[in-house]
Amino acid sequence: MTKLGLPDGIQACLFDLDGVITKTAVVHAAAWKQTFDDFLRQRDGDGYRPFDEVSDYDEYVDGRPRADGVRTFLGSRGIQLPEGDPDDPPDRGTVHGLGNRKNALLLELIRTRGVEAYDGTIRYVEAARAEGLRTAVVSSSANCRDVLKSIGAEHLFDVRIDGVVAAQRHLPGKPRPDTFLAAAQDLGVEAKAAAVFEDALAGMDAGRSGHFGYVVGVDRVGQADALRAHGADIVVRDLAELGEPGERP
Ligand SMILES: [Mg+2]
Repeated sequence: MTKLGLPDGIQACLFDLDGVITKTAVVHAAAWKQTFDDFLRQRDGDGYRPFDEVSDYDEYVDGRPRADGVRTFLGSRGIQLPEGDPDDPPDRGTVHGLGNRKNALLLELIRTRGVEAYDGTIRYVEAARAEGLRTAVVSSSANCRDVLKSIGAEHLFDVRIDGVVAAQRHLPGKPRPDTFLAAAQDLGVEAKAAAVFEDALAGMDAGRSGHFGYVVGVDRVGQADALRAHGADIVVRDLAELGEPGERP
């Protein structure tokens, strides 16, 4: 193991954004909850079964592209909506309409609350770069660039594969490994020489099926067992724990 807590031979680190670099996973969960609860209340009346911000979010939404999140969660409730168009207004009862409603709520929450970085991650990325490793951000978010800019961290990543780039290149999102594989390729390393850092179960699945050299599960909400079951090689609560064996939980 290197002093970064990674196996020898790792040359690149691929970081998820929301929940790994920034404290925005909870903001996404809140925006999804409001979107789905409004939809379900309208559909089923006051006896509706609310969206669970932890279990439903982890299982069906977190890490996936926006439209996939809508389809996957509603599918879990036996609901199928028409696809609609990507520019559907937020009040339209389509997959894209609900996705756009969620994004409008998310941007509003980000505007009012601001975005905070995880200091442990920023320090880890800086340390990795100082050791000569290459770095990428791999996110399903279409807002990735603005979020990175807002915390002044754009310069810390050699490559950015986000929702915008994935759409341009027609890459399927997490849980498929394609966006991580594209990042490794852009960095000029093979998957087995790259480490994946993810907080989402869909991200673990992508790390495992892409045969990456190391998959680090970042547990922010007490789901360590689920992260392991989905393929994490190690689970930490903060990247500061890596490379400091005495302090591992
Ligand atoms: Mg995430």
